[in-house]
Amino acid sequence: MVVDEFDVAVIGGGHAGIEAALASARMGMRTVMFTLNVDTIGQMSCNPAIGGIAKGIVVREVDALGGEMGRAIDHTGIQFKMLNTRKGKAVQSPRAQADKRRYREYMKRVCEHQENLYIKQEEVVDIIVSSRNEVVGLRTKLGIEFRVKAVVVTTGTFLNGLIHIGDRTFPAGRAWEPRSEDLADFYRRMDFPLLRFKTGTPARLDARTIDFSSLEVAPGDDPPPKFSFWTEPVGSYWFERGKEQAVCWITYTTEETHRIIRENLHRTALYSGRIKGVGPRYCPSIEDKVCRFPDRKRHTVFLEPEGLDTVEIYPNGLSTSLPEEIQWEMYRSIPGLERVELIRPAYAIEYDIVPPTELFPTLETKRIRGLFHAGNFNGTTGYEEAAGQGILAGINAALRASGREPIHLRRSESYIGVMVDDLTTRGVMEPYRLFTSRSEYRLYLRQDNAVLRLAKIGHGLGLLSDEQFKLVREVEEELERWKEFYRKEKVVVPLGGGERSYSVATLFTAGYSMDDLKSMGLKTPDQPYVREEVEIQLKYEPYVERERKLNEKLRKLEEVRIPEDIDYDRVPGLTNEAREKLKRVRPLTVGQAGRIEGVTPAAVTALLVYLGKLE
Ligand SMILES: Cc1cc2nc3c(=O)[nH]c(=O)nc-3n(C[C@H](O)[C@H](O)[C@H](O)COP(=O)(O)OP(=O)(O)OC[C@H]3O[C@@H](n4cnc5c(N)ncnc54)[C@H](O)[C@@H]3O)c2cc1C
Repeated sequence: MVVDEFDVAVIGGGHAGIEAALASARMGMRTVMFTLNVDTIGQMSCNPAIGGIAKGIVVREVDALGGEMGRAIDHTGIQFKMLNTRKGKAVQSPRAQADKRRYREYMKRVCEHQENLYIKQEEVVDIIVSSRNEVVGLRTKLGIEFRVKAVVVTTGTFLNGLIHIGDRTFPAGRAWEPRSEDLADFYRRMDFPLLRFKTGTPARLDARTIDFSSLEVAPGDDPPPKFSFWTEPVGSYWFERGKEQAVCWITYTTEETHRIIRENLHRTALYSGRIKGVGPRYCPSIEDKVCRFPDRKRHTVFLEPEGLDTVEIYPNGLSTSLPEEIQWEMYRSIPGLERVELIRPAYAIEYDIVPPTELFPTLETKRIRGLFHAGNFNGTTGYEEAAGQGILAGINAALRASGREPIHLRRSESYIGVMVDDLTTRGVMEPYRLFTSRSEYRLYLRQDNAVLRLAKIGHGLGLLSDEQFKLVREVEEELERWKEFYRKEKVVVPLGGGERSYSVATLFTAGYSMDDLKSMGLKTPDQPYVREEVEIQLKYEPYVERERKLNEKLRKLEEVRIPEDIDYDRVPGLTNEAREKLKRVRPLTVGQAGRIEGVTPAAVTALLVYLGKLE
């Protein structure tokens, strides 16, 4: 029974689904979002934070394309930080603790008020495909049919989700929420391969039972760095109310913690063999860390508040699938947590994904026209990775539904492009997470210039208003004026007892800052963004150029042969992951090595240096 028609349907109201649905609706498509529970739209399934290394850059890219994640965290964040400030600008990235409930409510409100977007709390059980292999509709559990031109599937951890706590196992999509099952039959019928991945989350602790007095405090930055180019920091909930930023705390596991884990390993779902799915290498459970690094005496644990008016604390670094009673013992062996009470136990979850090699770089499936996949369902982990894919899939679903050409984002212009290219060409053997080392353009793909790289695309698609784009153009023009001025302006600087005249622009590369220029009596920009960006761009110009030339050279070196007896343990600069995978695959050429999932551009460079082909 067909009851309604839409241009685009999005299955899922998580981080991928939200960006997909908003993008499609904002591009003028009549869009419907299906979710298993309307009240969990924008739910943060795991840690109460947005951003982090490389991930924060993706949030800025989503913002530059007209997405919502950056604005949502600016409004509902309770602690903001710029990570890696001691390192170069290229690897810096913003991260913020979120008030989980307010983040979810903000996202639900935005979706509810979005023109062209309709929300339905229904389980989608089937996608209807024409004899020409094109999406024409979908069916819900109650037997209602909707006619649609394109579908974006973003089922996260819900498809055939199975929760494990010690030897207890039960079906669920996330923390006791119902899972979705029938959609997997559609994929089987259409001959899509399905893989099983797993992830885990720590217990949530009761703050009233933690002794914070002896713990190290991790404060936010002052002033707090915001994510969105367009929101004002005054939008932040805590700021509006004159509240201080929240603090986090740092503690460490002990030898006693490690003993409890080792003695009960056979009772964890993972080590007892009950879990078959592959877990995330870079968000390992505490039992993984204890086994992988037997010599480490302690592991760091961040205690992060889940919000301003809840006592729930997220112990970052302590995800586990130990039985609940052992979890109590294990958590209580940690300084500050001696008397801790658990509010929700830790658990691991297994779920179905479709390998992303089934997709074009537009995120449309190769088998069925009009069917798009995004988020955890593509084998990634993380809210930001999900949002980055979500906005791209939503854009392309809208373009497909309106008969226009799809877009794809290049590796050289965005981290979203790097991620989508990695996923669709190399596939995933384990949950994929973004790192700066995954990009060969990391000096150029910075958080500070995301808006300059991508706003043109967002505006061209109608996702950024003329007013928003005008602001970007004005900033760009001012940037160019200042760069030109500094290239022409000369200063005399003392050198080796004498003096030499330099263009001001070159001083930035030599380490001078805007403040240094000001104290030398030179004119400097007033607008804070322009002031910072001129300095970064002029400082990085020669390095970005060098990076571009190196990438050209690397492409030419793809045919270099790797000796069959190479000992990868002797190649300096490889990560454990790259070393492990190179040993397993034993590629014959550098080009082949670079196409192995997990062998990053940085690893390829290390290999070429070892082979004497690069200095
Ligand atoms: C236990 C656990 C541990 C995690 N650990 C990590 C971690 O270590 N690191 C990390 O970065 N991230 C982790 N995450 C976060 C999370 O999995 C994702 O990164 C993120 O939420 C992915 O967003 P998504 O939009 O793809 O899916 P989700 O946020 O999971 O959203 C899925 C949506 O699909 C809907 N849905 C599913 N099936 C149907 C259907 N048939 N019909 C209608 N609606 C449907 C659901 O209602 C939901 O709205 C963890 C999550 C869980 C549950």
